[in-house]
Amino acid sequence: MAQPLLSRLRERLGGPRIEVLAPPWVAPVLRRMAEVDEVIEADLRHGALQLGERWRLGRMLKQRAYDHAVVLPNSWKSALIPFFAGIPVRVGYAGDLRFGLLNIVHAEKPGREAMALHYARLSEMPGTEPALPLPVPRLREKGNETAARFGISAPYTVLCPGAEYGPAKRWPYFGELAAKLDGEVVLLGSLSDKKDAEKIPGKNLIGQTTIDEAIDLIAGAALVVTNDSGLMHVAAATATRQVALFGSSSPEHTPPQSTVARIVWLRVDCSPCYQRSCPLGHFKCMNGLAVERVLEEIKSRS
Ligand code: SF4
Repeated sequence: MAQPLLSRLRERLGGPRIEVLAPPWVAPVLRRMAEVDEVIEADLRHGALQLGERWRLGRMLKQRAYDHAVVLPNSWKSALIPFFAGIPVRVGYAGDLRFGLLNIVHAEKPGREAMALHYARLSEMPGTEPALPLPVPRLREKGNETAARFGISAPYTVLCPGAEYGPAKRWPYFGELAAKLDGEVVLLGSLSDKKDAEKIPGKNLIGQTTIDEAIDLIAGAALVVTNDSGLMHVAAATATRQVALFGSSSPEHTPPQSTVARIVWLRVDCSPCYQRSCPLGHFKCMNGLAVERVLEEIKSRS
């Protein structure tokens, strides 16, 4: 969702070197972006202030003499590192009262807009909207040796039944869908998705691949079916044919940025609620999304 911002920074600032400070789990994704020259991994835990660690990192980065920093998260602590690094231009949303830590401060738009646009705005001066359409995200592909290494032969379908955010984003019928698909079915996801995927038929690689391998397997698939999750965005950024299933979240906020993606969203009255678990108990945004409806969407693109 941040890659269009990186493309726009490249254009607007005359092709600068771009380095990204990011947690280790996302580094392999960033390394596949043509806009990124270097990824600096920092394992700063979510929720922890780690003031000393941020100070040390900031001072280390000071030696790199950056001209410009863009802070994507909204937290106060996330703006500390570029401040400690003495980077002269520090851009971000006002967030948690970050005036002073940042010196080019954007006001948030009311409501939930598309995240790609939200980030891309940081390439402009406050008050200026980025030109549309935004560049489409694209991850570098590394060939198809990964599928062969896992004993998978094309054509195959990848199912991603997990969603890190919580059960309210997880469609409950992946098992029934898998049983009705032609050809080999491969299941991908992180270790935390393992339990939910136990009964789904197919080659279960959940928790057994690196992020790099998962990207390769998605890029080589004939079709990917996902919830609204990180792997949905990977499928979009590898231009793989995909069907994305939305329930408690909205495809207007975090759509797969791809012209070959199909979205299925019932848009029930209570949706989007953005809750991790269904606060009403009936979970009709996903329970009501029948396998036949998803198959219809798959066949409409066959
Ligand atoms: S409240 Fe509605 S949108 Fe939210 S999880 Fe429950 S059924 Fe889905």
